[in-house]
Amino acid sequence: MSAKIIDGKAFAATVREKVAGHVAKLKEEHNITPGLAVVLVGEDPASEVYVRNKGKQTVEAGMNSFEHKLPAETSEADLLALIDRLNNDPAVHGILVQLPLPGHLDSDLVINSIEPSKDVDGFHISNVGLLGTGQKSMVPCTPLGCLMMLRDHLGNLSGLNAVVVGRSNIVGKPMAQLLLGDSCTVTIAHSRTKDLPEVCRRADILVAAVGRPEMIPGDWVKPGATVIDVGINRIERDGKNKLVGDVEFASAAEVAGAITPVPGGVGPMTIACLLANTVTACCRAHGLSEPDGLTA
Ligand code: NDP
Repeated sequence: MSAKIIDGKAFAATVREKVAGHVAKLKEEHNITPGLAVVLVGEDPASEVYVRNKGKQTVEAGMNSFEHKLPAETSEADLLALIDRLNNDPAVHGILVQLPLPGHLDSDLVINSIEPSKDVDGFHISNVGLLGTGQKSMVPCTPLGCLMMLRDHLGNLSGLNAVVVGRSNIVGKPMAQLLLGDSCTVTIAHSRTKDLPEVCRRADILVAAVGRPEMIPGDWVKPGATVIDVGINRIERDGKNKLVGDVEFASAAEVAGAITPVPGGVGPMTIACLLANTVTACCRAHGLSEPDGLTA
């Protein structure tokens, strides 16, 4: 193996430390405690685990965590009324509605009812537009975490060829916008892309956000490239359950300059960036300077 392993777990710990430091400063100097409200509708077990982890890490960073667990049959009107209350609650600086929502609820309508300045997931249409036009916005957590790791590892990204495989609204598209913002030459690939191996081989930065276990082998990777594997896929191997990424780690690590592992790469950065976004939203709400290095 020749690649440097980018340790997302350790990096996320440094982000959380920075967040906690800034929270302590906000409390001490301004008597303000940032607050994050998380709304969960229904009993999806995976979502319950995510929400629990988010709440725990929010409190560990010194912030207030407000959890709202609603039954699966909650009406759209009741959910929108709760969001309206949170939008108007000065103790709440960030609002996150855990996705996916039960089928009878219109996710776009619900997400777009969040006050954009409190939309710490960065999914509101206003934030999507602001990011797309290079203006100050709330940035989706997973791509923000990827950008932080890339800047930390590579320094200046200007002029590098970046290929993002995947064009979803939550990962692929915002990732491409962020890389463009850092002056990369960006290609977005997807299921209809012709000769994907050749497209990937041109990448100095290769971001895989597909959701297909180990789809990208080492011989699609340019020697020395930095590989960010966003994929989280549960597979069974040798009779055991295992988590793997979208990149075939062993063969890619022979060729890449640096690579994120799965687990322990991008995953831990996502919640760390949610905390970072909550502090950023709190500072903006109070007209205070934002912490360095926690935004795009
Ligand atoms: P989506 O399913 O929304 O998007 C997948 C994208 O991959 C689509 O744009 C699709 O193309 C593209 N794709 C599918 N098959 C191929 C193929 N054979 N060749 C090229 N492109 C292909 O997934 P998400 O963006 O939500 O998530 C991607 C992965 O990242 C998943 O494994 C998910 O679990 C993980 N994830 C991890 C997070 C973390 O915290 N680490 C957070 C969010 C997601 P098309 O549009 O043409 O269909």
